Amino acid sequence: MSSPRQGWSCVWKAWRQSSVGSFKTLPYRQTRTLHAQTQEYLQSNQPDFTESQRTVRESIAKICSKYPDEYWLEKDNSKEFPTDLHADFARDGWLGICIPEKYGGAALGISEAAVMMQTVSECGGGMTAASSIHMNIFGLEPVVKFGTEEQKQRWLTPLVGGTERACFGVTEPNTGLDTLKLQSMATPDGDGNYILNGSKIWTSTAQIAQKILILVRTTPLNKVDKPSRGLSLFYTDLDRSKVQVTRIPKLGRAAVDSNVLFFENWKVNAADRIGKEGDGFKMIMHGMNAERILVAAEALGLGYAALRRASKYATERVVFERPIGQNQGIQHPLADSWVQLESARLMVYLAARMYDQGFETGEYANAAKYLASEAAFTACERAVLAHGGMGYAKEYHVERYLREAMLPRLAPVSKEMILNYIGERVLQLPKSY
Ligand SMILES: Cc1cc2nc3c(=O)[nH]c(=O)nc-3n(C[C@H](O)[C@H](O)[C@H](O)COP(=O)(O)OP(=O)(O)OC[C@H]3O[C@@H](n4cnc5c(N)ncnc54)[C@H](O)[C@@H]3O)c2cc1C
Repeated sequence: MSSPRQGWSCVWKAWRQSSVGSFKTLPYRQTRTLHAQTQEYLQSNQPDFTESQRTVRESIAKICSKYPDEYWLEKDNSKEFPTDLHADFARDGWLGICIPEKYGGAALGISEAAVMMQTVSECGGGMTAASSIHMNIFGLEPVVKFGTEEQKQRWLTPLVGGTERACFGVTEPNTGLDTLKLQSMATPDGDGNYILNGSKIWTSTAQIAQKILILVRTTPLNKVDKPSRGLSLFYTDLDRSKVQVTRIPKLGRAAVDSNVLFFENWKVNAADRIGKEGDGFKMIMHGMNAERILVAAEALGLGYAALRRASKYATERVVFERPIGQNQGIQHPLADSWVQLESARLMVYLAARMYDQGFETGEYANAAKYLASEAAFTACERAVLAHGGMGYAKEYHVERYLREAMLPRLAPVSKEMILNYIGERVLQLPKSY
């Protein structure tokens, strides 16, 4: 990963060209009025933020101020993908925040991308807003790291420009978290193509994506020396004449679809394979720590959004002739959530900085994802409780946050698998599964 400072000029340029640039001379305190809601709990002058992180924070908060809670409520009800938010991010160059400058990106680090994802979620868009751009931010890291020059030119530039959207197909119905047992197969046809057969589940944004990054077996499990071998990674057109895409009705984040994919005799050109045949698992693992950090940042944003709404309501709502927030039974859980979220935030940005500096193992990224998703869930639950009956009404938004707060606890990896990782890799306890 390039240093966060590299490519700074590109983001700076995009920022100046965007409608945000005119605010750059305002003191940080004043910029809170741009979108005070977003910056209520994590001010732009956060002492541990670098200059580039502050700029990202302010720029993203400004874009998000166009999309109030009512927008996200409407999207949740209509189940429509937020194409306008995606287009705004593409227009101002933010989809390429981690992509090398050569392909239109800004070549910033995960430390900046985490600020961006936290802010987009914190604005009230939650996991819906974050997921609508998430895959495009870091999903193509295997291409950046292992793709040929021709593939990078062909794939990265349209992704950054927002003209192509990507989805990510790893999870399968029969194998779940046991990725090494994936059953979908790609078989060479002897004519420069592979024929793909199998299924995927939970593939998010497959309803609107033109492209898919997909991991499948090219050598059956019983014919490889190690289970991590024999899986191959492809980035290719999502050919809807061969891939049946069925939307899954789900608890939250309704505007960003998740799907079951079923494919039969799907011809994929070998030119769309990334890296060597059989090396796919290694390549997919490469981006996983960064993805966990970004999901953690998204969860943090959701938690802060819930806390913001809860505090506001607790100040305004008067029962027994005083604001309910004057009762410690309301105030203390919210204050405790702020402490939990801030603690998690320190871990998220520590993990991000370490990642950018080349730290490769996953204990901090996993710990960050664990802490942030649990803290966010607790904050959302308390926000609903602080609203009393109105917490159950869609109009007050916190019920939507609570539904969305389940997601970072489950995906892309569960709490149990994180604890398995820490138990085994950090504490050197026997492998439990
Ligand atoms: C809304 C949503 C969007 C998603 N988007 C995508 C996407 O775009 N692309 C994609 O590829 N995937 C996606 N996923 C899939 C997600 O990554 C998986 O759901 C997740 O990895 C868990 O896999 P599973 O659901 O099969 O759970 P399972 O593997 O069936 O596990 C079920 C439960 O058992 C526990 N468990 C299993 N084994 C162990 C063990 N050894 N020790 C302790 N506990 C264990 C797990 O922790 C979990 O709680 C998405 C999921 C959701 C819900």
